Amino acid sequence: MNENSIYDLIIVGGGPGGFTTGIYAMRAALKTVLIEKGIAGGQLNNTEEIENWPGTEKISGSQLAANIAKHADQYGLEVVTREVVMIEPGLDYHAVELDDGTILRAHAIILGTGGSPKRLEVPGENEYYGKGVSYCAVCDGFFYRNKTVVIVGGGDTALEEALYLAKIATKVYIAHRRDQFRAGMILQKRVSADKKIEVMWNTVVREVKADELGVNEVELQDTQTGESRQLATDGVFIFIGFEPNNHLVPAGTKMNADGYVHTDERCETNTVGIFAIGDLREKYARQILTAAADGCTAALAAAHYVENRKASV
Ligand code: NAP
Repeated sequence: MNENSIYDLIIVGGGPGGFTTGIYAMRAALKTVLIEKGIAGGQLNNTEEIENWPGTEKISGSQLAANIAKHADQYGLEVVTREVVMIEPGLDYHAVELDDGTILRAHAIILGTGGSPKRLEVPGENEYYGKGVSYCAVCDGFFYRNKTVVIVGGGDTALEEALYLAKIATKVYIAHRRDQFRAGMILQKRVSADKKIEVMWNTVVREVKADELGVNEVELQDTQTGESRQLATDGVFIFIGFEPNNHLVPAGTKMNADGYVHTDERCETNTVGIFAIGDLREKYARQILTAAADGCTAALAAAHYVENRKASV
């Protein structure tokens, strides 16, 4: 990386979308750099097993992340491990400022900053984070061998993580606010067949309580009757969806009411030359596959955009 060098394309975020963009951009001979603040693969690393990546019946998230990063590396993709603090659109070039003050410039920017777990916003959640409250079963499940855990949520993530935790813990409760899961049927069938998992329908967690050793109880409320009760537990795993990481999206870029970035079919935002991919983008399905597909689309569109710009100067 050279502070004065101008790139064709800067990719912000090293999830499956960002690295797929990198592969396609290198194949299109774009001078490209990918900036990622953490480890390659992003959220993929928090997924135990992936069973819907076509051509691969089963693979761990961390292995798939490593494979994708290695694939991009074979094309010579430059990867910088730094945090991006600001993106400033410009007429000649867009600028990306890193946390060490370096400013990089490029014709096009692709934002693939993904999302973060939503918070439940109940008493005890923040206080006991890391002391029994978790948002990642693969990261923290190990601590719950032969223990009891409560999972909050009814989507694909909650059910997948419940199945994972049931292999470790003695008892897994799922507290879901409705009487029907949002998750797909395959996961629902697996959960109902797992004897260690007990679903508490129409139930919300109102408070997480702890003693000096960490979380020891949750206060539950029945959403139908309003009745409250206490349940002893060693941990609480919260999987109630994601929020887009949109803090770097430049002012004036259109987003929907939930903060997902609006793009056209080429993944380009209304800010010319700035593209959004993966979980950050407004779309129907948020999957590893669709993040990668967005990466492909955005890279091809960016290549076309950069070519036209260079031809016009
Ligand atoms: P999600 O699909 O948005 O589900 C969130 C769940 O949490 C819903 O059941 C929701 O209840 C519940 N919830 C939301 N806010 C709540 C609150 N304040 N209190 C209590 N419960 C609350 O989120 P996700 O499961 O993280 O999945 C995100 C996306 O990734 C989805 O598109 C999903 O399909 C995808 N995904 C796919 C796979 C896979 O294909 N294997 C795996 C993981 C994730 P309601 O149902 O009542 O709204």
